[in-house]
Amino acid sequence: MNKFNAGGWHEISKWEPTSFICWNCGKEVASEKAYATYKAGSGFHHSFIYACPNCNAPTILDDEKKQILLPLPGKEINRLPENIEIIYSEIRKCMQSGCFNGAIMLMRKLIMHIAVEEGDDEGKNFIDYIDFLNNNGIVPKKSKSKADSVRILGNSANHEIENRILEDAQNCFEFIELLLKVNYEFADGEEE
Ligand SMILES: [Zn+2]
Repeated sequence: MNKFNAGGWHEISKWEPTSFICWNCGKEVASEKAYATYKAGSGFHHSFIYACPNCNAPTILDDEKKQILLPLPGKEINRLPENIEIIYSEIRKCMQSGCFNGAIMLMRKLIMHIAVEEGDDEGKNFIDYIDFLNNNGIVPKKSKSKADSVRILGNSANHEIENRILEDAQNCFEFIELLLKVNYEFADGEEE
């Protein structure tokens, strides 16, 4: 989490409270403190920068009240190997910034990486890696429908931009979180 508490926002104005989920602290807040753009004739009704009442981070809303930076999706997962931790963290940031094609490419990479680490061969097709994870108990038996939902990513995403991309990315992200939790955070510790 970034720190914004060293000072207060100077000459900030008071507005009707607006609620949003803060990208920085992840809390659902209602803020009445903001800077706003102004246009002669129509007044202050355009873009806003709201200060979070919890962590003081600025949240930007554009003219259509679209929030620029979304909350970081997913949770921290404990006991991840360093190389996996780095990719997982980049996936979360891609999702946060709405870069869903980039997120999906990284998630494919991570799925292949996990399969190879668990004993599969390098250089196989994405769908074969999903099968490997299913057939070797790396995907829990009752979660196979989640694995099926990411199968289609084997041949899309890299070639075309689709409207389904957000939904695909979210499905895949849930699958990744499940894989990482089951196989790292909740896995039995190795004997030393
Ligand atoms: Zn906040």
